[in-house]
Amino acid sequence: MKRQKLTVLGATGSIGVSTLDVVARHPDRYEVIALTGNSRVEVLLDQCLQHRPRYAVVGNADAVAGLTERLRSAGLNTEVLAGPAALEQVAALPEVDMVMAAIVGAAGLQPTLAAVRQGKRVLLANKEVLVMAGALFMAEVRRYGATLLPIDSEHNAVFQSLPADYAGEPAGAGVSHILLTASGGPFLGTPLERLQNVTPAEACAHPNWEMGRKISVDSATLMNKGLEVIEAHWLFNLLPEQIEVVIHPQSVIHSLVQYVDGSVLAELGNPDMRTPIAYAMAWPERIAAGVLPLDLPAIARLSFEKPDLLRFPCLALAFRALRDGANAATVLNAANEVAVAAFLAGHLPFLAIAEIIAATLDAVPVRPMADLTAILAEDANARAVATELLARKSA
Ligand code: NAD
Ligand code: MG
Repeated sequence: MKRQKLTVLGATGSIGVSTLDVVARHPDRYEVIALTGNSRVEVLLDQCLQHRPRYAVVGNADAVAGLTERLRSAGLNTEVLAGPAALEQVAALPEVDMVMAAIVGAAGLQPTLAAVRQGKRVLLANKEVLVMAGALFMAEVRRYGATLLPIDSEHNAVFQSLPADYAGEPAGAGVSHILLTASGGPFLGTPLERLQNVTPAEACAHPNWEMGRKISVDSATLMNKGLEVIEAHWLFNLLPEQIEVVIHPQSVIHSLVQYVDGSVLAELGNPDMRTPIAYAMAWPERIAAGVLPLDLPAIARLSFEKPDLLRFPCLALAFRALRDGANAATVLNAANEVAVAAFLAGHLPFLAIAEIIAATLDAVPVRPMADLTAILAEDANARAVATELLARKSA
């Protein structure tokens, strides 16, 4: 079998590490061509020593010489590059078959688009890409014939529960709506008064999933589910009212599809991102992912409840942005990235994250975005507005 050649964008993060774990289980199937990291150069070095890629990309040009030298002394001739242009370069390499898009946030947009424009198989973890630029991104996927496979566990579950030939037409496929499950995050049962004083460490202590810090805070505010609602809209061509969110604290059912005849199909499993990663890497085949089989008697109970939009207003803000359309989700995403970074730095109380996002949405008019330049301008403008609102809050 010809080995599939792979670029991992965001290799040093939580999804990147899980991806390389799956790769290491199947050396006969996959070959790593490029790995990228931002600041965790030590982790990237170790990954290079194990996977021997042709290219490694770091965030800061100052790190290139040191990493190159250490790779050379280990007998590797991996070429070390730096910066955003290098990310695009390794995503678009002609010899690469598939690209794992696992950078966090808006920084992943252009490298992921570069892979799409080469018609690659794109494994999309970086949900912010679809939130900030969904219309353009999906149009480019169609135009360049890229294969887009969702890594987000909920969307991967929906993908698995839809007909294999689903082509973005819910009515034709007999789909009524989808149910995205949400664990509820670490503050599911926390009263509103207590939420005012929760710390970044508490917000990042997720009960079921081990993830990067930004998505961990998004899970704690439920903005992660809001971003996923927008992601589902673009991936599966669903109206806002066809996307329902249900809290399911055990994270065993990863999401469900409700059909018009009353049938509900779902994908279940232990909460381990190696399942959706392995599924997308091998699709339409299946390969071992190192995930333990589901032990239902040990889990004993699965429970469900409605999300509380009073304590978690970010979910409602995301629905608002999806309904508003045009630039609104781009603004939502940018304001969220600014507010979450401020919270993680200890400069903003937890509940103020939603306030900053709402105020940014109120301040920026809803207006169409014609192209990538306009999207990037909206992103930059919303960051400036959110930053100004933050400064006023702490003044
Ligand atoms: P992480 O913080 O652990 O890793 C982020 C990766 O992006 C790192 O490799 C980092 O070096 C890189 N990166 C960060 N900023 C960068 C920049 N400016 N330029 C280039 N590279 C940069 O995050 P994660 O938890 O692995 O999440 C990655 C993406 O996957 C996010 O969009 C997240 O929403 C999504 N996702 C994650 C999970 C999960 O279980 N961790 C599940 C579903 C979706
Ligand atoms: Mg998810």
